[in-house]
Amino acid sequence: MTPPKPTPLPLSHSLSDALFHEAQKVLVGGVNSPVRAFGAVGGTPLIFDHGAGARVFDADGNGYLDFVGSWGPLILGHTHPDVVAAVQDQAARGSSFGMTTELEIELARKIIRALPTIENVRFVSSGTEATMSALRLARAATGRNYVVKFEGCYHGHADSFLSQAGSGLATLGIPASPGVPEAIAALTLNVPFNNSAAVEEAFAKHSGEIAAVIVEPIAANMGVVPPEGSFLRDLREITLRDGALLLMDEVITGFRVAYGGAQSLFSIAPDITILGKIIGGGLPVAAYGGRRELMRNVAPAGKVYQAGTLSGNPLAMRAGIETLRVLERPGFYEDLHRKSARLVQGLDQLLQGGNLPVRMNSVGSLLTLFFTPVPVRDFESAKHSDTARFAAFFWEMLKRGVFLPPSQYEAWFVSAAHTVEDLDQTVQACRDSFEVVFREGVM
Ligand code: PMP
Repeated sequence: MTPPKPTPLPLSHSLSDALFHEAQKVLVGGVNSPVRAFGAVGGTPLIFDHGAGARVFDADGNGYLDFVGSWGPLILGHTHPDVVAAVQDQAARGSSFGMTTELEIELARKIIRALPTIENVRFVSSGTEATMSALRLARAATGRNYVVKFEGCYHGHADSFLSQAGSGLATLGIPASPGVPEAIAALTLNVPFNNSAAVEEAFAKHSGEIAAVIVEPIAANMGVVPPEGSFLRDLREITLRDGALLLMDEVITGFRVAYGGAQSLFSIAPDITILGKIIGGGLPVAAYGGRRELMRNVAPAGKVYQAGTLSGNPLAMRAGIETLRVLERPGFYEDLHRKSARLVQGLDQLLQGGNLPVRMNSVGSLLTLFFTPVPVRDFESAKHSDTARFAAFFWEMLKRGVFLPPSQYEAWFVSAAHTVEDLDQTVQACRDSFEVVFREGVM
C-alpha cells in the first residue's frame, strides 16, 4: 500500500482547530500530556486521526512525515501489518485477564536475551512507573535514600524525579512542580550531564548515603546529547566504589540505538535497566529488570511492593513481541542507521553550506537540531538554543508536510518506515524552512 502524498501548501486546520476548542472544554488544557499542547512552539495543536507507515494524518486529512513516532515507540512506523494483525487477534482472544499469560514469558525472554544485564524483569504500564519502582528497589536494596540524577535528563514524573537544580554542583533538589514535598525533592541530587567530577563531588559529600545514580545513557530529553569520553564508565566505577546502584534509563535508547540498547554500544553493565516505548510496540508497556538476586527484592518474591492491574497486558505484550520480532531480522539496524545517516548527512551539508547557527547531535536514528552555534553537551549548553527560531522552524516544516517534535528539547525519531525519498524530502523541507527562518527581518 502506498500512503497518500502529503497535502501541498497551504494546509487547512479548521477541523483540528474546532476539535481542540472542544477538547479544552473537557480535557485539562485540551490534552492528556503537556507537550501535546504545543506550548513550546505556540499556535493551536493538531488533532490526529490516523497513521500509516511514516505518515500521520490530522483531522483535516493533511498528511505529514512523522518524526515524533509517538515519542519513540514507533520504530516500525505506524500500523505495521504484523503488529496490527497480532493486536487484532489478541483483542478477539481477550484484552486483559489480570493473571499471567504465556505472552509475558515470551516478551521477558526476548528482553533477557537482548540485554544480558537483565536476568529478571517486571512489566509495568509506563516509563514513570518503571523508574519510580526501580528507585524504590534501589533504596530498599541499599538502605539509602539519596538519588543522583542529571540536569536535563527526564525519568518520568514521579516525585523524586521532579526536582531541579539551583546553581552550583550537586545542589539539593528543589521541587520543580507544586505538590512535590520538599522533603522528597531534597533527596534528589542534580548534577550536570557529562560531568564526572560533579558526580564525584556529590558522592564525596554524601558518601554511603546515595542509593543510586540514574542516567539516560544517551540523553534524549534535552534534545539528543551523547555521553562523552569516559562519562558512563565513570558512573559505573563511582557507584561500584561507593556501593550505590547504577540505573540506566533506556526507555528511549532501549532497542532504538541497538537491539541491546545503549549499554551494548558502550559496554556498560548497569544494576537496573529501565525500558519502555519500543518494547510495547505503541501500546502501554514499560519494564525494569536486573540481576535475579536484586530483582528478588520485589514483591511477591521480596518485600518491595509494586503491582499493576494492567501490568503485562496481553494486547500490549503481543504488540511488543511482534515489534521485537521485526527488529531481530538480519540487517534491521544496519538499514535503519544507513537511512538515518542519509538524513543526518543531508542536514549536515545544509548547515555547513549555509554556515547556519544550528548544531546537530545524532546517534543512529535519534537526532536534534539545536538552534545555537555552540556545541551542546549538557543542559546548560542546550539552553542556549533560540527556541523562538525553533518554533518558527517547526511551523515552516509542518507547512511542508513534516511533523517534528513540537519542542527544541526533544529527539527526532527516524523509523524503518521512512523511505530514502521521505528523508530526502525532509532535507529539502529543512532547506526551504531555514531560508524562511534565517531570512533577515523574519524573526
Ligand atoms: N524515561 C525516559 C528516558 C523517557 O524519555 C520517558 C518519557 N518520554 C520516561 C522515562 C517516562 O515514560 P512515560 O512517559 O511512559 O511515563
